[in-house]
Amino acid sequence: MAEINQNFQKLPGSYLFAEIARRTAAYQAANPDKKLIKMGIGDVTRPLAPSVIRAMHKAVDEMGSADTFMGYGPYEGYDFLRDAIVQHDYAARGVTMSREEIFVSDGAKSDCGNIGDIFSVNNVVAVCDPVYPVYVDANAMAGRAGEYDGEKWTNIVYMPCTAENGFVPALPERVPDLIYLCFPNNPTGMAATKDQLKLWVDYANEHGSVILYDSAYEAFIRDPEIPHSIYEVPGARTCAIEFRSYSKTAGFTGTRCAYTIIPKELKVNGVSLAELWLRRQSTKYNGCPYMIQRGAEAIYTPEGQQEVRETIDYYLNNAAIIREGLAKAGLTVYGGVNSPYVWAATPDGMGSWDFFDRLLQEGNVVTTPGAGFGPSGEGYIRLTGFGDPENTKEAIRRITRML
Ligand SMILES: *Cc1c(COP(=O)(O)O)cnc(C)c1O
Repeated sequence: MAEINQNFQKLPGSYLFAEIARRTAAYQAANPDKKLIKMGIGDVTRPLAPSVIRAMHKAVDEMGSADTFMGYGPYEGYDFLRDAIVQHDYAARGVTMSREEIFVSDGAKSDCGNIGDIFSVNNVVAVCDPVYPVYVDANAMAGRAGEYDGEKWTNIVYMPCTAENGFVPALPERVPDLIYLCFPNNPTGMAATKDQLKLWVDYANEHGSVILYDSAYEAFIRDPEIPHSIYEVPGARTCAIEFRSYSKTAGFTGTRCAYTIIPKELKVNGVSLAELWLRRQSTKYNGCPYMIQRGAEAIYTPEGQQEVRETIDYYLNNAAIIREGLAKAGLTVYGGVNSPYVWAATPDGMGSWDFFDRLLQEGNVVTTPGAGFGPSGEGYIRLTGFGDPENTKEAIRRITRML
């Protein structure tokens, strides 16, 4: 008789967004005349850049002709895209990367979760708290998390990210084998400096830990001192895997293209992690579509670069409206500078779900309560710059009036 993977039975329901939807729907049903503004949105809203659309149209036409048709592509991505990544995302920032270290995929979410396939189930995993839930749940499914006690997993090392530590975690007491870091961070919107990352790189090299660095939001960095890649930090090539995505960079959330970097020097017990990952991908994955990779390549043309930058500036402008507006209204706010996310402390230490309810009922604004991202998210709410400027300004006016 078949048996299920019992680890799935231990997972709590995906409470956060279901609960937000439930409370929002209940309020709207009772108050059908109220127009709600959604500031919790975690998806991009602007269309793909014209350069991307042109490149994808051309690639579709190529697929319709016998002499230019493409079948299965390389598991690790086409060289045209990997070479563009080497040149524009790394060499341009003074980082040497080779084509063989780049693995193109259909998303950073899948890569962040699937990377666990190449590591032992006995590895201890550390995550930031609050956290993007994918890292935790994927490791729980694999049997690395222990038991869920209603708030935390017994075998996960939670690293509090608080106002006191600038939302960059301190080195943990228990030494983890795998360390997920994400900067600029979702949900806090805070970025890490080179010096802050250097501490982690040195720690990982010293203990033989592997850093899993999610830089899905690197394109939002405008401060020239903030590193876009962990490989801008000396020593990272022997301890870090980096995840990048075109989702937030270029609006590819529905288009699907990302990549993972595993340097040649990164070995565990003498075994190359890049070789293991290629083995894993070539067994369970058949590559990102040709048309999509052509679309991603177009982001690196001069017009493409300018178009995606304008879109990110649009989101950053919304984030600035939120950050400055809420600060003026008297809230303590973080993030929203090198990130589309603003992390706001609730007034008078109010619970994050209570403040969520107040904002919904009195302000008619939907946010995301910080507690949904982990215990240290309590006392905060997350707002995002992915809306449009008019609604964003109206939401801030409403919150200001309410406070
Ligand atoms: C949106 C996001 C991603 C991107 O995931 P894709 O699967 O590439 O769309 C990765 N990490 C974090 C933290 C995110 O918020």
